[in-house]
Amino acid sequence: AAVRILKSGMRLPPLPTVRELVKLYQLQALKQLSQNFLMDERITDKIVKSAGRIDTHDIVLEVGPGPGAITRSILRRSPQRLILVEKDHRFLPSLELLKECAKPLDLQVDIHIDDILRFNMEHHIPDTTQRLHLIGNLPFAISTRLIINWFEDLSLRRGAFRRNDTCMTLTFQKEVAERICANLGDKQRCRLSVMSQIWTQPVMKFTIPGKAFVPKPEVDVGVVKLIPLKQPKTDLPFGLVEKVVRHIFNMRQKYCRRGYGTLFPPQDRDDICYELFQRADVEDTLRPFQLSVDECIRLATVYKEFIEANPDIARYDFRAQKNVPTEMLSDEYV
Ligand code: SAM
Repeated sequence: AAVRILKSGMRLPPLPTVRELVKLYQLQALKQLSQNFLMDERITDKIVKSAGRIDTHDIVLEVGPGPGAITRSILRRSPQRLILVEKDHRFLPSLELLKECAKPLDLQVDIHIDDILRFNMEHHIPDTTQRLHLIGNLPFAISTRLIINWFEDLSLRRGAFRRNDTCMTLTFQKEVAERICANLGDKQRCRLSVMSQIWTQPVMKFTIPGKAFVPKPEVDVGVVKLIPLKQPKTDLPFGLVEKVVRHIFNMRQKYCRRGYGTLFPPQDRDDICYELFQRADVEDTLRPFQLSVDECIRLATVYKEFIEANPDIARYDFRAQKNVPTEMLSDEYV
């Protein structure tokens, strides 16, 4: 295998290809861990390039390195430290091999066989003096849950987001990537678009055809860079914003007052909605996908004021009612 030249001019020693390692260690992809591997280093280099400049003082955390194709592309950019979080222990030998190769080049590689959803960033990265990049060809099964968790961390300036310049360069199913980036009025606009755009500026970088993966998934993949906003669009509590946006988008095809109204008991719903939409200065006959991020936040703000004055209403759960349409019971980010 070819010797690889690092950004710093140093070289990674010759390594077996990822394809050879997958064969050698008999790494059959596991469906339950959403394993689809990339083998083409032009694509993995392009993903890492999408993360922007990586300095020799920076830390990179890669989610789900698997057999390590993106990992190699990251190492070629020579960050000071690379943290790998992989749930499947079968990849340990191929990741250890990369760690050994990186050692003489002064590149620190820390491998954690762990679940990224439980990974304690503050414990593993106690110091915030170094910039952190989050990169990953994410398992489809956890991708939206992971970024929603990270938006909450961002809103609280905790975990990976104690600094305000931690960017996320991540893959999603192409349709999910389009939803994340969808602008006002786009047909893909949904609660994930609004949630993403309250705390970050999402940028669609490029798409990867499904056939580039082994095994080939049913769908194409989008690479999105999520850049934290220096000034998030709100400092309202994350849980409250999430709840209001979820209710608004629960009835996608209806006037937005219909979904928003389900925050309130049916007997007072119309009156409360009328008053709160007036106060928020939002047209109540817009469809959810026609609402701007600012309008959603204004609706969340007046909801917060309302429940402060009427604390019982905060506990109202429309799902506990009879005859709730099934479309409204879904937690899917659509
Ligand atoms: N990075 C490799 C590549 O691009 O070829 C593998 C990508 S594959 C789509 C997703 C990887 O994430 C797999 O290696 C899988 O084992 C790992 N994974 C799945 N769930 C995980 C979790 N909760 N925490 C950490 N890694 C996980």
